[in-house]
Amino acid sequence: MLLVPLSVACPNCGSKDITYTCEPKCCFNHLCGSCYSTFELATIPLGKQFHEVAIPAGERDSLAPTTACAVCESLDLFQVDEGEGPDVTLFCSACHALLKLEFEAVQRS
Ligand SMILES: [Zn+2]
Ligand SMILES: [Zn+2]
Repeated sequence: MLLVPLSVACPNCGSKDITYTCEPKCCFNHLCGSCYSTFELATIPLGKQFHEVAIPAGERDSLAPTTACAVCESLDLFQVDEGEGPDVTLFCSACHALLKLEFEAVQRS
């Protein structure tokens, strides 16, 4: 299983030019740089855990897509690189839960 930084596609236009516009202590509102739609990212526990995985090192980019683990509320989430699929699976490096990425409060402009 390969872990990569979160890379989300706009639910309106599919662009990956997504900027995180708020702070984790407030909300997970994101802005699409192509169509200016906004949306919030959330996670749903898949009820599975994964342990034998190497956690990538590196600094978090404050403008990169961000959301919190639905199990432990950690922000240390990575995307599971499974190729191009309709669903995005996330991995929490704090509690090792596997999560499904959800879009909420989508405002198409
Ligand atoms: Zn868009
Ligand atoms: Zn967690």
